[in-house]
Amino acid sequence: LQKRLPLQDGEDVSALTRTPADPELAQMIEKAPGTVIADTMKCFQKIDECDMSVFDLEKSTGSALSVCTYAILYKLDLINRLELDDVKLRTFLAAVQAGYHPNPYHNSVHAADVSQINYFIMTKGGLIDKCKLSQEEVLAGILAGSIHDYDHPGYNNNFHTRTNAYLSTLYNDRSILENHHLACIFEMLRLPRYNIFSHMKEEQYREIRDTMVEMVLSTDMGLHGKIFSQFRRRLGECPEWHERKDDIRLALSMSIKMADISNCGRPKHLYLEWAKNIATEFYNQGDVEQKLCIPISPFMDRRKDKQEFPKGQISFMNFIVVPMFEAISEFLPPVECSLQHTTENKEYWQQQE
Ligand code: AMP
Ligand code: ZN
Repeated sequence: LQKRLPLQDGEDVSALTRTPADPELAQMIEKAPGTVIADTMKCFQKIDECDMSVFDLEKSTGSALSVCTYAILYKLDLINRLELDDVKLRTFLAAVQAGYHPNPYHNSVHAADVSQINYFIMTKGGLIDKCKLSQEEVLAGILAGSIHDYDHPGYNNNFHTRTNAYLSTLYNDRSILENHHLACIFEMLRLPRYNIFSHMKEEQYREIRDTMVEMVLSTDMGLHGKIFSQFRRRLGECPEWHERKDDIRLALSMSIKMADISNCGRPKHLYLEWAKNIATEFYNQGDVEQKLCIPISPFMDRRKDKQEFPKGQISFMNFIVVPMFEAISEFLPPVECSLQHTTENKEYWQQQE
């Protein structure tokens, strides 16, 4: 892939899937196990759509998060325009990917999923145009999606608070995990071999960092009501979204928030895979809570799976996902495809009941 980049002027990304003229490359492809390259390219043909499968990308590459993030930054021409050091960027993305735990749900594939749909919302969805985002904001927006659950331990904020975990003291019970994801990443970025921002001007770096911090902190579902009502109020006031920095940041926060729960808005076969994964992680937490003799959190008791899981999914969609996707579709009409998938997925559970 490296040998085929950069693409020629005016060449579309699908050019990557054509048989290469370079004989050395053609030979490498021939020798590649199975259909790795063809499968990867097939996934990437969907990178601009809301039905791309990061599960397939993970199957063919084993590193969906780093590969997907790199491809997005490449497609947006940000590596070139912001003069990002290619080696540092790859080293950084590999480290980000490696820092995700193999949790059933909060793993690097979830981060790739969020990153891709967040990119979709910003590009085809129309957020970049509507907010007239700067290159720095776009870079921050993409990176925020990729790093947003870094080093997630597989237990939620409430669990940390209730067990008096070290992180709950460190962050005073405020957006514990979200603060942790960001702090780990920015600590890592202090090391020269990962510091993709080291060549930037101070204000350029501040802009990127502030945007990433605001976006990742907004993924705390404990703040959902507050952030969503703020968005709805501004939507009703019909502002020129690009005029105020607060509005731009709010719009970017809505993008990552939507992306974070976008599993409900993916085609059914993908959504059901995510739903199974989140249930596994919830029940793991429930098991630990039971062992610690503390009340099992709602929807985390595996003995109640049959009665509660479908109901939980329907309520989550009714009270959180659908209202949010409706409001964002009003703001950015092309994201309506996610709303349609959500309706279908909700109907699936209603039929099961
Ligand atoms: P994050 O932990 O950053 O991934 O934030 C998203 C949160 O939304 C998750 O922790 C879950 O609590 C919730 N969530 C996302 N998808 C689902 C789903 N399909 N069912 C129930 N809760 C979900
Ligand atoms: Zn997440």
